[in-house]
Formats: sequence, C-alpha cells, structure tokens
Amino acid sequence: MLSPFIWRCLLPTAAILCLSTPLTAQNDLDQRINQEAPALLATYKHLHENPELSTQEKETSALIASELRRLGYEVTDHFGQYAEPNLVAYGVVALLKNGPGPTVYVRTDMDALPIIESTGLPYASHVKVKREGGAEVGVMHACGHDLHMTVFLGTASMLAQLKDRWSGTVVLIGQPAEETVGGAEAMLDAGLYAKFPKPDYVLALHDSSAVPAGKVSWHAGPLLAGADSVDITVRGYGGHGAAPQATKDPIVIASEIVVALQTIVSREMDPQLPTVVTVGSFHAGTKHNIIPDDAHLQLTVRTMNPQQREKVLAAIARISNGIAAAAGVPAERAPLIEVAKDHVPATINDVALTNRVGASLELALGKENVLPGEPIMASEDFSLFALKDPKPPISMFWLGAADPLKLKDAQEKGTRLPGPHSSEFAPVPDPAIRTGVKAMTCAVMDLLKK
Ligand SMILES: [Zn+2]
Ligand SMILES: [Zn+2]
Repeated sequence: MLSPFIWRCLLPTAAILCLSTPLTAQNDLDQRINQEAPALLATYKHLHENPELSTQEKETSALIASELRRLGYEVTDHFGQYAEPNLVAYGVVALLKNGPGPTVYVRTDMDALPIIESTGLPYASHVKVKREGGAEVGVMHACGHDLHMTVFLGTASMLAQLKDRWSGTVVLIGQPAEETVGGAEAMLDAGLYAKFPKPDYVLALHDSSAVPAGKVSWHAGPLLAGADSVDITVRGYGGHGAAPQATKDPIVIASEIVVALQTIVSREMDPQLPTVVTVGSFHAGTKHNIIPDDAHLQLTVRTMNPQQREKVLAAIARISNGIAAAAGVPAERAPLIEVAKDHVPATINDVALTNRVGASLELALGKENVLPGEPIMASEDFSLFALKDPKPPISMFWLGAADPLKLKDAQEKGTRLPGPHSSEFAPVPDPAIRTGVKAMTCAVMDLLKK
C-alpha cells in the first residue's frame, strides 16, 4: 500500500471542483478523496486478486453490500431473478435518501472473465474454477469491473460524507453478470424501478485503454453497439470424399457463405453507420475423406439501431439461403438460422443528460483532462436501464485506465496496447480511481444540487 504522503505527491494538478462548489469545498473534496485513496487501492487489489465469473459474484457482492452498509446506505442484496430458476442473482441495491429532489442511479458491474491473467502484476489473479463439463478456466478482471466497483465505493463514501451539499435520492446498483448480459435484465425484471424510487437519471462509467489514466472522455448519443449472436447450420448431403459428385458439400457452401457475408458491411450498409458481421467459429467434418452432412457457423453481429439490425439479420438469412439454393440444396435442407435470445440493444447516451454530465466532468477535472469520447462496437447491458419504464435517460462515460506514456508510445508507433478482455490488460489504478471518484461524485452532486 502507498503511504498517504506518496498519494499526495501523485495528485494531478487539475483543479477539482463541482459545478456549484466554492473553492474551499473543492479542496475539501480533494482531501477527502486522498484520505480514502489508500483504502480504495487496497480494495481494488483485493477485488482484482479475487475475481468471480458472471452469476458467481457471491463474495464480491457481499463485500460491496457490507461496505455500503458501513457507509450508512440502506442495502438490499441478492436482488434479481434470472430466467433459470436455480441461479441466484447477486444484485445489490443501496439507497441514500437525503431530502427532496431527483433520484440518481449509479450502476457498477461486478463480474470477471474466463481468462488466465498474464499481466505479471503483484496482485494478479491466480483464481481457477471448474466450469460445466469439468474444464478448468482461469478467472480475471480483464474488463476492469474491479476498477468500476472501487470507484463506485469511493463515490458512495463521498456522497455519504457530503450530504449537506446535495438534496435528493441516490440509488447505487451493484449489477451481476454483465459479461453474459443477464444481470441488468435480472434486476430490472425483478422490479428494480418499482420496488425502489423511480430513477430520473442513470449513470455509469467504463474503463478505457484508449484514454490515459487521470483523464475521462464522453460522447452523447450512441456509445456502444447492439449485439446479436447468430448460429447457422448449413445442411448438405454427406458422402465419400472421393465422390463429391454424389454429395452437396456443406463445407464448400459454408465457405462461400462466410465470404459473401463480408459484402453485407462492404456493399449493403450505409458506410456512415458502423456495422460488424464477424464469423467467429466454423466447425465441420471429422476426417480427411468424409464429406459431412452439415457445417456450423457462429456469428456476432453489431449494429447501432433496430432498423439496421433487422436489415443485417435479413441479409444474413438471404445470403445463406441463396448460396445453399445456388449449390443445389433443396428447400427442405435449407440452412437453419438461429438468432440467440440474449440480444442487447445499442447503448444510447441521452444527449441532454450527457451534455450536463460532460459539463460537470470538465468543471470537476479541468478541460484538459476531459477528452472527446468515441463510440465503440463492444456491447453492454447498461443499455437496458434506458428501456424499462419509466425509461429514464442514461449516460455512461469512459474512465481513462491506460499508462499515459505507454499509450502515447503505442499511438506514435501504431502498436498494440492491451485493452479490455486481454490477458495482459493492466489498468493504472492511480490516478484512475481518484479521477473516477471525483468525476462520478461531481456528476451526481451536480444533478442533485440544492
Ligand atoms: Zn467486458
Ligand atoms: Zn466491461
């Protein structure tokens, strides 16, 4: 753990102030965050070293719940209901009522990924778990949800300490199972907005390896893509590898489909509107001299709005069916195309709310520490918080997590810097944690200012 003295030396020079906060209060917020920083860093390292996979967040959620109780929040744990009846939802909802005013939700995710960590950090995860079927996998906070939780707890502490400076209600959400996109739905379906005060605004942040630690970035409008998983079973007629004339070879048909699918993005979609169609898996056959009966493709599709999504899914079906028909496959053996139910829509940052949050961030951190953000084609179930009645405005901003020098070097040389979902992803917790706490605390307090 770093000594408080070192933390003070590492302070960024940017002024820390909230929109309506006088100078003495800014210094006060700085001091409070610096006082908490060593404990928050210790919490971060503990969470990083002890990751839990999606739907398994038992210890993580217990830690979050007990910390929030200690800070004086009214906490409900084990909140949520998955479609699978045997699965426990480890959702945490923490309430702080503080007079009249709007209700602001702040959401963190809590789950980690099945990745063997290779950062070499002293607090690296060595956790391994057995998955269904008995295979052992490593577990790693490779998406930075440990950083999100730490900032979330720091923000919870600041809001509790500074109750005299805001009025309204804060609802803090610890969401399980973001990576498998079941957690937000489990909490919303269990009546999150009905059993707790209705939200006027919902905020979140996500770490970014494209933004240096100590800075944030934001973007109004579409921020993250909608995601679909599509399975295609190409059905032919198998037979002897030496007698192709007696078969309809599904490997050749599926190969043509893979190539033709590339024309959806390059030839059919508006180049101004980002679209992704990736074939991530292609499995067929068992042996050199057997033409199999079928071939299986697995696709991920990323789109930014419902119309675009429909168009891409329709094109996938049209191309797959057309190529199979062109190869002479009869209609009754046409490809089976299945779109998985776990669709997540695009995350659209409400423009008015995001502009307000952006102004808070600039005043809190200084303009030089707030960059223009960019949308990316990854997906999040944070999007679902905007779609359940009363359909509140939502906004997520990017929290810088990259080593500034390494990022600059990578940008200059055009080389790769490990980012989220990489076994080498290593956020720089200081100053990312303090920056995140300042940013989120000020964003919330500005929405709830007296
Ligand atoms: Zn992730
Ligand atoms: Zn994530």
